[in-house]
Amino acid sequence: MSNENMAELLFPDVRQVPADIYSLYPPRNLSSSALITRFAQSPTGSLNIGGLYATLISERLAHQSNGVFFLRIEDTDKKREIKGSLENIINSLSYFGIHFDEGPQLSGDDKGAYGPYKQSSRIQIYKVFMKHLVRNGLAYPCFCDTDDLQKIRINQQNLKITTGYYGRWANHRDISFQQAKEEILNGKPFVIRLKSSGSSDSRITYHDLVKGPIELPENDQDIVIMKTDGLPTYHFAHAIDDYLMGTTFCLRGDEWLSSVPIHIQLFETLGFRIPEYGHIAPIMKQVGASKRKFSKRKDLDGTADYYKEQGYPGIALSEYFMNLINSDFEEWRMTNPHKSFRDFFINTDKMNASGALLDMNKLGDISKDVISRLTGKQVFDHLYTWSKEFDSELYTLIDKNKEYTVNILNIGRTIEKPRKDYSKWSDVKPMIAFFYDELFEKDVLSGYKLPTNVSFDVAKEIVLGFSKTYRFNNEKEAWFHEMKELAGELGFAKDMKQYKANPNNYKGHVGDVAMVIRVALTNRTNTPDLFDIMKVMGEKRVLSRMQTFFGDSI
Ligand code: GLU
Repeated sequence: MSNENMAELLFPDVRQVPADIYSLYPPRNLSSSALITRFAQSPTGSLNIGGLYATLISERLAHQSNGVFFLRIEDTDKKREIKGSLENIINSLSYFGIHFDEGPQLSGDDKGAYGPYKQSSRIQIYKVFMKHLVRNGLAYPCFCDTDDLQKIRINQQNLKITTGYYGRWANHRDISFQQAKEEILNGKPFVIRLKSSGSSDSRITYHDLVKGPIELPENDQDIVIMKTDGLPTYHFAHAIDDYLMGTTFCLRGDEWLSSVPIHIQLFETLGFRIPEYGHIAPIMKQVGASKRKFSKRKDLDGTADYYKEQGYPGIALSEYFMNLINSDFEEWRMTNPHKSFRDFFINTDKMNASGALLDMNKLGDISKDVISRLTGKQVFDHLYTWSKEFDSELYTLIDKNKEYTVNILNIGRTIEKPRKDYSKWSDVKPMIAFFYDELFEKDVLSGYKLPTNVSFDVAKEIVLGFSKTYRFNNEKEAWFHEMKELAGELGFAKDMKQYKANPNNYKGHVGDVAMVIRVALTNRTNTPDLFDIMKVMGEKRVLSRMQTFFGDSI
């Protein structure tokens, strides 16, 4: 009876009992092998890459087993909340191709029948279970303030025993209804603590999905489950939510590993089935010869936003993560170059238990492969979306020249071994800038970068000669034939063999002639195929650039 009175005293407004809540969360209609996983993110800023990595693992496990992956926002710590985080999380997941089946949406509504998916909207649910625990003598109010707790700690330190709120040190464990009532009438703040049945002499064992068999001391502390502001602690909300939402696998950062005894105790006390846990070590950053954790403050490249801003296609980062998750992905990818990475089944047993290293070079290579599989039009669409947000100059340029840009991006892409020169969207502009008259004109203001073995006068002769014979409709062979003829006329060898036999007889070889044309058209010495470039530039532009060249050289 006194527990009942205590429960009424602490939660007078809570009228529901757990059974009322259970009826709102029926088991999901899924096959027995389907996994239910989640991304439980606090809205405390932009997503970090470690979070993104863990999320991909959760998402893959759910979807490869025809299960459900959902997003839950853990926003009970209002002090740490940063505005715009929810939008950032949702947009980042979408950019990196991580689809969630249930969770909060940008519109403000929830999608899915197991919500609400924001913890701040679930306060009443937590209270029902807290009241239930108090009613059953499994939890109690604690009125100790920081000074009281400090006193306990000092006493324990003096006695050289474990500090904390447990066993005989748990002052309010057996608080009477009368005493609690008086404290409340006096306006004293209180927390709710779980009465621990554990002993630090006993050990719990469980099988971690990532780290394998784990043994830890049982929890003997009376942990706080409700804070003075009436909000649940992470531990409590985790147990309630993951049980009601049906989570089968909880994958999370390994900073939570030491909390497993608390969580197992909570699930057991509440009479809930315990989910499987997998603890993922943080992704590491290479710094010189050593590696370390990404720092939240110092390392920009530790956030998902960085990869988006740089323009790594979302799918490239996911593809790269697949290599880190299971090292046999690489071999699978080689034998299945055209399949989606989603056709590969990941396995938590094969995951590396220690921190995976983020290798930027490898990410770059994978990203180049991913981009090389796209058509010019697809590259254009990505570039268009990306530049709209991150490079307004490029956006204006390609928006004005849509078709031209698609043709530019198609160069070297429609062949069997397509070009692999872009690893991210920010690589594209410097490589294609010369195609656009505005940028080209700006670039040649500081002079043409001719190869050193050709004088400006000779270069002028080459360009003049070439512009006379140039026919836009010539096929590649005829075009090259003209180039050779011109080389011969101007005292250059028509081919390399000829040149190598008697280098002193020539000013250079046909390659030098082509190089001059290349520089006149692009002001670059290294470009994709010159013939392809001319085709895309079109006759008018080619002639006008040659004209500009003599203009400058006279
Ligand atoms: N909100 C917790 C965090 O951001 C979630 C941990 C978990 O996945 O259970 O670390």
